[in-house]
Amino acid sequence: MSDIKRRDSIQVMVGDVPVGGKAPIVVQSMTNTDTSDVDATVEQIKHLHNAGSEIVRITVNNDDAAQAVPKIKEKLLADDVTVPLVGDFHYNGHKLLVDYPEAAQALSKFRINPGNTGTKTRDENFCTIVEQAIKHEKPVRIGVNWGSLDQKLLAKKMDENSELENPKSSKQVMLDTMVESARRSAELAESVGLASNKIIISCKMSHVQDVVHVYERIAELLDYPLHVGLTEAGMGMKGTVSSTAALSVLLQQGIGDTIRVSLTPKPGGDRAKEVRICQQILQSLGIRNFVPQVTACPGCGRTNSTYFQELADEIQDYLRDMMPIWRDVYPGVEEMNVAVMGCVVNGPGESRNANIGISLPGTFEEPKAPVYMDGEHYTTLRGDGIGEEFRNILDEYVMRNYGQSNGQEEQETVEETG
Ligand code: SF4
Repeated sequence: MSDIKRRDSIQVMVGDVPVGGKAPIVVQSMTNTDTSDVDATVEQIKHLHNAGSEIVRITVNNDDAAQAVPKIKEKLLADDVTVPLVGDFHYNGHKLLVDYPEAAQALSKFRINPGNTGTKTRDENFCTIVEQAIKHEKPVRIGVNWGSLDQKLLAKKMDENSELENPKSSKQVMLDTMVESARRSAELAESVGLASNKIIISCKMSHVQDVVHVYERIAELLDYPLHVGLTEAGMGMKGTVSSTAALSVLLQQGIGDTIRVSLTPKPGGDRAKEVRICQQILQSLGIRNFVPQVTACPGCGRTNSTYFQELADEIQDYLRDMMPIWRDVYPGVEEMNVAVMGCVVNGPGESRNANIGISLPGTFEEPKAPVYMDGEHYTTLRGDGIGEEFRNILDEYVMRNYGQSNGQEEQETVEETG
């Protein structure tokens, strides 16, 4: 694990999940179902939670959605899913939380966007939401977003800037206003009576350098835990790489107590991908382990077979699929390293460095695949069943090295649960 020094922050409990302080950095996500569709929302929450989302946010945008919230919670609890739910409120949160106290009670946190609480009665509405949080003993996230930045505050800051002898650029004023909006909103929430250990802050933007700049400033100014992420990160590779870049720079400085990757999925795409990306970022930085890692070479002219790529992919999927079961039965297995390599050049070396590794034959090499365990040659596989045999060896390794009591009992547990 890394020796990154985390920024000191107040700890906030979101349901039974601690955020900030010395708590592990929490992975969270958000549904994209219509919240009033109870069954679809329950299914997606379960899917996200099963993938590793430790907190799940849902949109609460109208009466139907607010009425659905306690039903969603009830259905989840009936299936023993206790993941904390966060209500995402914009424009009418002050009304919905008052009109639907059962929804307020079922949620574990309210997200307030201070730029979206109204125009004339902005502060009044913001304070109403805070009062509801106090009444229901819930924390809030003050989530500033540059797409909905408080325009009145921005105009005021622009005016003040224009009076300066050396005015800042309008971009810099906007970044300052993001920070100021978060600071003022937290101050206002505390003045209403919300305890400091009920406040989480986020300040999201869609460009990497802006996000880094703003969070570095907030981390210096405030003690609240920080929810970090790039907003509207985009699709596919762009969204993944941009989010990874922003989060890595901040997390490496110890900034960030809970993270979300706001990836735009393809229509019908898997929403849980954003959860896996969060986990992979934390694991790649050596901050938290979630799933055994597969080291695989990129392949080159020394192998014209795609078999090692297929096997690496298959093993990574297998490990991920097994984790919901293994997590409880084989504690520590998430730290295991598995190597699947393409030829003799780096194959045996990399396989020896892993807990368990296989070096497949490259072009013109003898068709055999040596398997290594904890740095030693264990066996050599040949023929068509290499993949299956390697998986069996992997299962045995996991059972022997991460099982707490005798292997037979654990194998039976896995078979029963699986
Ligand atoms: S291990 Fe072999 S096949 Fe894989 S990248 Fe290295 S030289 Fe190429």
